[in-house]
Amino acid sequence: RRSPPCALVIFGASGDLTERKLLPALARLAGYGALPPEVALIGVARTPMTDDEFADRCRRSVSGEGHPRWKDLTATARYVSGGYDDPATYQRLADVLAESDSRHGTAGNRVYYFATPPRLFGPIAVSLGKAGLSVPDGDSFVRVVVEKPFGWDEASARELYADLSSAFVEEQIFRIDHYLAKETVQNLLALRFANSIFEPIWNRTWVDNVQITVAETLGVGERGGFYETTGAMRDIVQNHVLQVLSLFLMEPPTSFHPEAIRDEKVKLLRAIRPLDEEAEIAANAVRGQYTRGGTREDLMPGYRDEPGVDPLSSTETFVAMRLEVQNWRWTGVPVYVRTGKRLPARLTEVAMEFRRPPQLPLFPGTAERLEPDALIVRVQPDEGLSLRFGAKVPGHAFRVQKASMDFSYESFEEQSPDAYERVILDALIGDPTLFIRADEVGRSWRIVDPVMRYWAGDARPIPLYQAATWGPPEAGSLIARDGRSWRHSA
Ligand code: NAP
Repeated sequence: RRSPPCALVIFGASGDLTERKLLPALARLAGYGALPPEVALIGVARTPMTDDEFADRCRRSVSGEGHPRWKDLTATARYVSGGYDDPATYQRLADVLAESDSRHGTAGNRVYYFATPPRLFGPIAVSLGKAGLSVPDGDSFVRVVVEKPFGWDEASARELYADLSSAFVEEQIFRIDHYLAKETVQNLLALRFANSIFEPIWNRTWVDNVQITVAETLGVGERGGFYETTGAMRDIVQNHVLQVLSLFLMEPPTSFHPEAIRDEKVKLLRAIRPLDEEAEIAANAVRGQYTRGGTREDLMPGYRDEPGVDPLSSTETFVAMRLEVQNWRWTGVPVYVRTGKRLPARLTEVAMEFRRPPQLPLFPGTAERLEPDALIVRVQPDEGLSLRFGAKVPGHAFRVQKASMDFSYESFEEQSPDAYERVILDALIGDPTLFIRADEVGRSWRIVDPVMRYWAGDARPIPLYQAATWGPPEAGSLIARDGRSWRHSA
């Protein structure tokens, strides 16, 4: 795959995301031949820099010299310095873009990548609109790539939408969830729709429950200030968890056209019943915050001891929820989701546990101990798939034990592209499949917003859990009430 001619404009070009993710991804894309000479790079930020200094910064963001095309792309890179709401910045940008069209043949095509703090997304979009830089000319295209978060709650998401759509139509807006660009997440589509063996069991007749886990071992580290205004619900559940959930449980799309897939995802999100009543929220959503824990050799600080964190903070670093998808396929199958920092393992997985077979009493003594059959998609680490089932233990006794069939992505010789390579190239090419549509964003907020509001008004102290444990005891009770247990809990 190869980008069409285009000027790629990065707002926030002096920042962390640009340096750590975007520039290295561009260097790799250049190395694959995905960025022809008609692709030009333009950085915009307030930090004063010359074109040469910006080019230097680009080169320093990757190790080694890189491919000749990367050297060429950086050598011709341009930099516009100025305030994000200053019309003069956009006038200079317009001049640089016009020059890029004549020098590099970028043909009036533009992709604006917003790599700034989120509160600048709206003002930048509005300024681009006012400067006449958001409307394509003739056959050209103009797109905008927006990083998460897409608002802080339902109301601010609507405000952001209003700002973005004052300048751009929905087809021009590419909202990134880099989780969707992970190979294993995309493999959910292959697993479900390129095979015939799974579809017959992908429903409430066979599936007992679904569990989605996004677990991190790290704490907030240096990002305490950022995390204080975010929390686990906004950081992980509102976007990554609900995106993965919708891909895993949606109906088969009528085609692999991006809109067909996104239509099915949003239908699934609409089928998740928001928890609106206080009693319902209290029963089905658990928050938690890590305290000091670990071993004597590896003692980890509590969240409130992290730099930039209020010593009385009630920001959640853990969320567990029990969701219900009310549609023909899934009614009655609980979906348990769980995410947290400072948990005992770093893993992201989606697991489907199947109903127990009726003949379990045939194997005396095993019925209670035997875990249910399960299909587990590991998103990270060790990307792959496991099918867990019961097998007879060799010997005279009839004992059944869990066995597992494993597929690991390592068995492919091909390397998985980095998520940012994928999203940048998709945006340049104009494939919105892995980007989030406005109605998906709105619906996701509709699911998490009432819970966040309830927690904000809840005077009781936030439940605590020791670092390196699987969350507060309330999370165990949430699932034990249904006679089930979390797949990872010890
Ligand atoms: P950042 O480094 O804090 O900010 C990017 C640039 O924006 C800065 O270099 C700065 O450039 C400008 N900026 C920062 N604070 C500003 C302020 N108060 N007013 C005006 N301009 C300001 O942000 P980042 O970590 O690169 O993240 C950019 C976006 O990507 C955010 O939306 C973030 O949520 C998202 N994101 C980041 C990561 C990551 O790994 N960093 C991962 C996923 C998503 P100038 O001062 O030169 O203008």
